[in-house]
Amino acid sequence: MKTTDLARRRFLLRSAAATAALPLLALLPKHALADLPPLPVTNAQAKALHYIEDATKSDQSTRKPDSFCDNCQFHVAATNGCAIFPGFSVTPKGWCSAWALKK
Ligand code: SF4
Repeated sequence: MKTTDLARRRFLLRSAAATAALPLLALLPKHALADLPPLPVTNAQAKALHYIEDATKSDQSTRKPDSFCDNCQFHVAATNGCAIFPGFSVTPKGWCSAWALKK
C-alpha cells in the first residue's frame, strides 16, 4: 500500500471520528462551554445591588415585573456574564438594582 493511501485512510478515519463526536457537544452542560463561576449572593457588591437569583422573589419595590438579567443591557448572553460583575455568571432569571433594559 502506498504512503498516500495510508495517509488518506488515516485522514478519513479521523474525519469520521470527529463527525461522529459532534452531536456529543449538545450533551455538554451549558456551563461547560461558558465557564464563569456563579455570582455568590454573599458577594458584597451583589448584596449592595440587591442581586437575587430568582427575580420573582425580589422584595425590591424598584423592580419591574418584566425585568430580568436576560433582558438587561449588562447581560452577556454567550456566557451568562454581567458587565457589572466581571468574572461571574448570573442567573438569566435573576435581577439586581443596576438593571437597565437591553436596547
Ligand atoms: S446588571 Fe443586569 S445582568 Fe447584571 S446582575 Fe444586574 S440585572 Fe442581572
